[in-house]
Amino acid sequence: MDNKDNTSVKEVEKVKEKKKKTSERCYHCNKKLKMIHFTCRCNHKFCIVHQNPHSHNCEFNNKKICQEAIKMNNPQTIHQKVVKIQ
Ligand SMILES: [Zn+2]
Ligand SMILES: [Zn+2]
Repeated sequence: MDNKDNTSVKEVEKVKEKKKKTSERCYHCNKKLKMIHFTCRCNHKFCIVHQNPHSHNCEFNNKKICQEAIKMNNPQTIHQKVVKIQ
């Protein structure tokens, strides 16, 4: 058993080692990623739980992109208050 009063240096070394050995981590929950991880369109890596853009408040907002796409496709309809869909 180690003497608990002499932990400081050893602990620091341990932390350094840990930091050095950075395996991939989930960008959202910081959980270590093992074999399976996902890279989102926002270019961050996520665990299984947070792979879904909704689960990590994805910067790469799907809705925004949809809106942009709509704007690009129908620049004129934006100015109309009501767009009737038949
Ligand atoms: Zn996660
Ligand atoms: Zn994302």
